[in-house]
Amino acid sequence: MVERIILANPRGFCAGVSRAIDIVELALQKFGKPIYVRHPIVHNIHVVRELEKKGAVFVESLDAVPTGSYVIFSAHGSPAALRQEAVLKGLKPIDAVCPLVTKVHVEARRFARNGFEIVYIGHRGHQEAIGVTSIAPMHLVETLEDVENLVLASDKAVILTQTTLSVDDARKLVEALKKKYPFITETPKEDICYATTNRQGAVKELAKQADVILVIGSPTSSNSVRLVETATAMGKPAYLINDKTELQEGWITNAKIVGVTSGASGPEDLVLELVEFLKEKFNVTKVENLVHTTENVEFVLPDELKEK
Ligand code: SF4
Repeated sequence: MVERIILANPRGFCAGVSRAIDIVELALQKFGKPIYVRHPIVHNIHVVRELEKKGAVFVESLDAVPTGSYVIFSAHGSPAALRQEAVLKGLKPIDAVCPLVTKVHVEARRFARNGFEIVYIGHRGHQEAIGVTSIAPMHLVETLEDVENLVLASDKAVILTQTTLSVDDARKLVEALKKKYPFITETPKEDICYATTNRQGAVKELAKQADVILVIGSPTSSNSVRLVETATAMGKPAYLINDKTELQEGWITNAKIVGVTSGASGPEDLVLELVEFLKEKFNVTKVENLVHTTENVEFVLPDELKEK
């Protein structure tokens, strides 16, 4: 019998996701539809569908974009050659990459220029990792086994990481790398972003109280999947759902306290719909907020979309 629902704070949209969605909406307003977007602007199926309704067209290949059209690059960052390809094809590129991903691109370029061998901790095949590893030659490691198999050619090396990793898993890999290569250095400021760190911190606190945790987000969203893993690692069952329709009642049959959170690309209206559904279905009247920390981050828009 569910007695209480606890909402984790912070949850949901981070500054990079809000900015990326704003970029598509502003481009539609300013330049008219269709606006082409290379790759899902953020990894959330609802966000993509809503933007499609407004006139955004999502493509993977620039061959699908007619000459002269605007094309927006997604929040995760894109392979370096793509922007050049867009210009050569006569397209008008607008970059919606999150500034915190750009920061890792800048670091990669700088360390490579200064003769460092780069070890990048990231998820193979994820859009962000594809983008960063296109900047300079680097070793991609994802598991402790990858660290064991890694062979560095020099004694000047640095670790960079994907922004949306599990803080705890990344720390284990960094420690293993430092043990194997004591000379290896880390970047002065962590690459895992504030939003990922804060949402994982909040879900850890939630897991201390809740019997089960529901995470609103899409399976393609790296940071949403990490929230499920973080809660599970705390010994609590956790489930990733796109929206309330994917909830299975069996998950919460024996739960007194249901924790709810959302990944950095999980829309807040879907969280509120889930809470309303739980309240009605299980006759719950108590909804509480658990505040891990507050956020106050905003990023500026690209020049093409700034108000003159
Ligand atoms: S999760 Fe972090 S890196 Fe990714 S868009 Fe949000 S703020 Fe940027």
